Amino acid sequence: MFLPQELIRRKRDGQALSHEEISFLVDGIATGKLSDSQVGALAMAIFFQDMSIDECVSLTCAMRDSGDILNWTDYELEGPVVDKHSTGGVGDVVSLMLGPIIAACGGYVPMISGRGLGHTGGTLDKLEAITGYDPYVPKERFQSIVRDNGVAIVGASQNIAPADKRLYAIRDITATVDSIALISSSVLSKKLSEGLDSLVMDIKVGSGAFMKTPALSEALAQRMVKVTNRAGCQMSALLTDMSQPLASSCGNALEVIEAMDYLTGAYRNIRLHKVTMALSENMLLSARLVSNKDEARAKIEWALNSGEAAERFNKMVFLLGGPSDLLARGKSFFAQAPVIAPVLAEQDGYLAAIDTRAIGMSIIALGGGRMRQAQKIDHRVGLSHWRQLGGLIEKGDPLVMIHAADQNSWQRAAQRIRDAITLTAECPSIPDVIRQQVTL
Ligand code: URA
Repeated sequence: MFLPQELIRRKRDGQALSHEEISFLVDGIATGKLSDSQVGALAMAIFFQDMSIDECVSLTCAMRDSGDILNWTDYELEGPVVDKHSTGGVGDVVSLMLGPIIAACGGYVPMISGRGLGHTGGTLDKLEAITGYDPYVPKERFQSIVRDNGVAIVGASQNIAPADKRLYAIRDITATVDSIALISSSVLSKKLSEGLDSLVMDIKVGSGAFMKTPALSEALAQRMVKVTNRAGCQMSALLTDMSQPLASSCGNALEVIEAMDYLTGAYRNIRLHKVTMALSENMLLSARLVSNKDEARAKIEWALNSGEAAERFNKMVFLLGGPSDLLARGKSFFAQAPVIAPVLAEQDGYLAAIDTRAIGMSIIALGGGRMRQAQKIDHRVGLSHWRQLGGLIEKGDPLVMIHAADQNSWQRAAQRIRDAITLTAECPSIPDVIRQQVTL
């Protein structure tokens, strides 16, 4: 038996806590035996003193164990259980393609996804643009769909890492979100409750990234790789560029349409393709579904060119309540926004910089994300036909197409977009979309 205030004091003074002490604190967070003020004080102590890898592993595993953990032993799967997590961004629709690709390649992907956070879009919000799609199915149904189709993307039940749910809510109001120890333990506790054999992380860098500097993104990647591998799950991470929207479209229905075009081969944005390929290759390698990069690439290309990945996506949508023929219906399935018009460049120049965070906020202002927790999303709105950084633009050229609910919101979005982009006379140097790989 420990005294919470003594453990908080020790952490405050920079001492390491043992596995048993951290398990005791997490139990107190999950059961309510620790008060909100004690949880807030603990979070602040960790924020200032950080945690060792051992402490992060203990915190991650204790938070994972505070709720349900998917057990796959009765499902007789013929391959590894794998997943990907991204720190989020704008136009980051990779999950919708990567899950089906990996399923087609022999992996099993039980992806528990979240909603939009801050300026970033959420995979669940995107999938809910498909009328009928129900991401909240009972655990047994979720696991059966993964067994039969290789992939299902759903929302978290109440009982996934409940200790993290309470800790995160308190961090959110005590200025303790941006701690590498707390972010890595929070994300990993939820991901590891999927019962994974391996995990790939996509950690974003740039003006639309959750982490504010490249150094912090790299530090988060290093920490997560160490903690996950020590917790018994293979993991590698990629740092990828978020200094511009990743896909050509951003907004819920528009991103689902882009994902479907990607899977059928109708259209593939080059940067989105590079990130999807790199993460899929890493996932196949870390799950030992292939033995080298060439084999991984060949397998992914087969999954795409044979239509197998597209079919897994289509079937997932159907099994989770959507139409049986979404891919055949394509974009005609989705309602269009009433006002669709381009923003035109007001001068010549190279597209040198985009404030991607501001672009994410402009989508929220259009109604494509939430300003209040209970707000209903307008799935029709967003941006499409983005010009890429580095492109030469002439006055009067379209920069991007805005899909808006009305003229007024179109005007406001157009102003935000003009404010968020920088055109220069000199050709800028543009970072590669794959910035760095982080392995153990
Ligand atoms: N997302 C999470 O789930 N947890 C964090 O701490 C930060 C982002």
